[in-house]
Amino acid sequence: MTAHADCIFCKIIAGDIPAFKLCEDDDTLSFMDINPYNDGHCLVIPKGHYENLYAMPDDAMAAVSIATRKVAAAVNAALEPDGLNLVQANGPAAGQSVYHFHMHVFPRKTDDKAWMNWRFAPGDMDRIGQIAEQIRAHL
Ligand code: AMP
Ligand code: ZN
Repeated sequence: MTAHADCIFCKIIAGDIPAFKLCEDDDTLSFMDINPYNDGHCLVIPKGHYENLYAMPDDAMAAVSIATRKVAAAVNAALEPDGLNLVQANGPAAGQSVYHFHMHVFPRKTDDKAWMNWRFAPGDMDRIGQIAEQIRAHL
């Protein structure tokens, strides 16, 4: 698999820097996030270096999805959090800081204030329809 010389996650995959590894298979690696928001916050990554969601081939995405479900179930069984989100960032405005695709397994506590915080206010239906048309044109 292609590694990227400056990528911290490629270095973890290669064993060049340490990590609290959880599990590994031919295509994925799971390990603890060292800046956890809550206990059990961990990451699932493809072994290939793909910068973000858009660069992910289907087979890598499928492998990460399967590993993520497995790891999330283990976190849930081990820690019994009040809830759990999967979070995945693409680009600076989304908070991406490491440019090797990763899925956050993000356990939640009631009132932990880790909000995405969008309003549940009804949108403009004409605009929603137009935007849907724009997106469909690329599917
Ligand atoms: P993001 O901001 O979505 O790109 O997430 C990157 C995540 O990687 C952050 O939550 C960091 O805490 C985490 N992280 C960065 N370096 C390491 C590392 N060496 N070991 C484990 N987690 C890391
Ligand atoms: Zn990488």
